[in-house]
Amino acid sequence: MHIDVDTQKLLEATTLRNAIDYNGSARLDTVISKILGSKPEIKNNLKEVIPKIKEIVEQINSLSIERQRELLLQNYPNYLETKKAVEKNEFQLPPLLNAKDGQVVTRFPPEPNGYPHIGHAKAAIIDEEYAKMYSGKLILRFDDTNPLNEKIEYYDAIKQGLLWLNIAPDIIKNTSDDINLLHYYGRELINKGNAYICLCDQNTIHHLRSKGVPCLCRVQSDKILENSDKIFNGFYHQNEAIIRFKGKMDSHNTAMRDPTLFRIIENTHPLLGDKIILWPTYDFAAPIEDSLDGVTHALRTKEYELRNELYKQILKSLDMRIPEVIEFSRLEFEGLPVSKRKLKPLIEDKMVEGWSDPRLPTLMGLKRRGFTPEAIRRFVLSLGITLSETKPSIEVLEAFNRKIIDSKSKRLLFVNDPVKINIKNVEHKEVEFQNHPSIEMGTRKIYVKNVVFISRQDAEKLKNGMEIRLMELYNIKVLQIDIDKKEGIVEYTDNILKENIPKIQWVSEEDLVKYTILKPNKLFIGDSFNHNSLQVIEGFAESFVTTLSNSSMVQFMRLGFCRIEDNKSAIFTHK
Ligand code: ATP
Ligand code: MG
Repeated sequence: MHIDVDTQKLLEATTLRNAIDYNGSARLDTVISKILGSKPEIKNNLKEVIPKIKEIVEQINSLSIERQRELLLQNYPNYLETKKAVEKNEFQLPPLLNAKDGQVVTRFPPEPNGYPHIGHAKAAIIDEEYAKMYSGKLILRFDDTNPLNEKIEYYDAIKQGLLWLNIAPDIIKNTSDDINLLHYYGRELINKGNAYICLCDQNTIHHLRSKGVPCLCRVQSDKILENSDKIFNGFYHQNEAIIRFKGKMDSHNTAMRDPTLFRIIENTHPLLGDKIILWPTYDFAAPIEDSLDGVTHALRTKEYELRNELYKQILKSLDMRIPEVIEFSRLEFEGLPVSKRKLKPLIEDKMVEGWSDPRLPTLMGLKRRGFTPEAIRRFVLSLGITLSETKPSIEVLEAFNRKIIDSKSKRLLFVNDPVKINIKNVEHKEVEFQNHPSIEMGTRKIYVKNVVFISRQDAEKLKNGMEIRLMELYNIKVLQIDIDKKEGIVEYTDNILKENIPKIQWVSEEDLVKYTILKPNKLFIGDSFNHNSLQVIEGFAESFVTTLSNSSMVQFMRLGFCRIEDNKSAIFTHK
C-alpha cells in the first residue's frame, strides 16, 4: 500500500493530537473524520488509507502520553495549539485584584481533623490555579491549633489527597511550627491594649455577647498584664481563661464582639505533644500566619465573610501587612453533604465503611468510585469562584468524568439477577467482541454453546413468539419464559441485523463468573441518612473481567461505567 509523505505526516500529527486530547487514546473514527476534513480527496482512496490509519492509531495509542507529547513537540509543533487549550480557557478563573506576575502567594489551610473531600479539592485547586496563573507560589499550611481533633493520620491523608489531585505545593508547613511567634504576637496585642484575658464562664460570655455588653475583665485594665503573665505561664487550666480581642461589644457584626483569640486545650498535640496548652483560634492564627508567610491573596469560603473585618483589624493593630481576602462559595452537592461535621459521625457510627466508602464525597471515596482527578479539576474550574450558593448536582461532575473515562473503558457484558436461557437449533459459536466500539483496544472471544443468561428485567419483558437480538451474537425467538424458575427456552432464528427488535445483553454459560456491583445511591434523603444508599447488584459477568487489573475502568453495557475492585466485584461510577 502506498501513501505519500504528506498524508503520512498529516496522519501522524492528527493522531498524536487526538491521542493527547483524550488521555493517550486516539479515536479511530475521529481521526478518520479529521483526515477527511483536511484532505477530502482521500475519499477516493479509502480502502487503502483506512488500514493505514488504523495501524498508525494503534501504534500511537501504544505509546505513553508523555512520549506522544514529545513526538508532537519534536515533529509537529504547529499542532500544539489545540482544542484542549480552548477548552481550558473556557474555564479560566477571573484575574485577581492587585496581582503581579511572579509575586502571588496563595495558601491552602486545612485543619488536619479529617480526610479531605471535594470541598477541599475546590479550595486547593483554586489556590493552585491562581498561583500558577501568576507564576507564584502555593503554600500548604496545616492549621493545626486544636489538638482535640487533630491526628497525624489526617495530615498524611491531606498530603495524599493533594498528590492525587496533582497539586504540588511549593511550601508545606504547620501553623503549630510558629506557636512561639503566635504567642509573641498575642502578648503584643495585649501590651498594645487590643486584647485582654477574660476569666468569665462560658454562659456569661455568651450572654453578654448577645446583649452587646462588655464584662469586667475588659474594663479592669490594671489586672490585664498580671493575668497575661499568668495565662502565658500556664497558670490557668482549660475553661478558666481565654484571651479575647478588644473589638466592639455592640458592633452589628457579631464577629467583632470581642472574639476569642487564644484558649486553653490540655490535649496532646500530634506534633508538639504536651508542651503547649495555650492555642490560638483560627481567627487569630490565620491572619498572622498569612501575613508572615507572605500570602498575597487569601482565598477562603464565604462563611468567613463576617470575620474579614476581624482578620484585617488584628493585622492593623499589630502594624502587619494585610493580604487581599477573597471569598468563594462552599461546595455542597444535592443529597450529598461534604462537611466533615456531617461525614465524621457516619464513619464513627459505622453507617459507612470508612473514609474511602464509595458513597462519600471524600477524595478517597471519589477515587474508589472511579472519578478522575482531571474531572474534579475541570468541574471545579467550571464552577469558578462565584459567591452563589447553588448546589450543583453530582451529575455535573459525572459528565466531566464520563468524557475522560469513556475512551479508557472496555465494554463488557454483565447480567443482573440472571435468568437461564436454553437456545434450540443453534450451532456452537465463538464470537469476537471489540473491546471498545470506536477506539482500538483489541478484541476478545466468547464461546457460546446453547445456554446464555439474561437479566431478569429483560426477561420480564419477553413474551412468547417475540424476536430479540442477543447483542453482537444472533437473533432468537422466545418459546417459553418462567420468571419464577428463572429459566426460559428460545430458538435460534437468524443473524440478520434487524431494526425495531430489542437488543439485550447476555452472558454465556461457558464463559462467566459470579460478579457483584456495588452501586452508591444518595447518601442523605432530606436530612436523614439513606439506609439504602449502597445497592448490591449480584449477577454474572463474562470471565474476561477477571483478566483486568484492579482499578481499571470498564463500561458494562446498558448499565454504566464501573471501577474494578477485585476479580469478583466492581463499584458503579455513573451511567
Ligand atoms: P469541614 O466542614 O469539612 O470541616 P472546614 O472548612 O472546617 O470544612 P478546613 O480543613 O478547615 O475544613 O478547610 C480547609 C480549606 O478548605 C478552607 O479554606 C475551607 O474554606 C476550604 N473548604 C472546606 N470545605 C469546603 C467546601 N465545601 N467548599 C469549598 N471550600 C471548602
Ligand atoms: Mg474546620
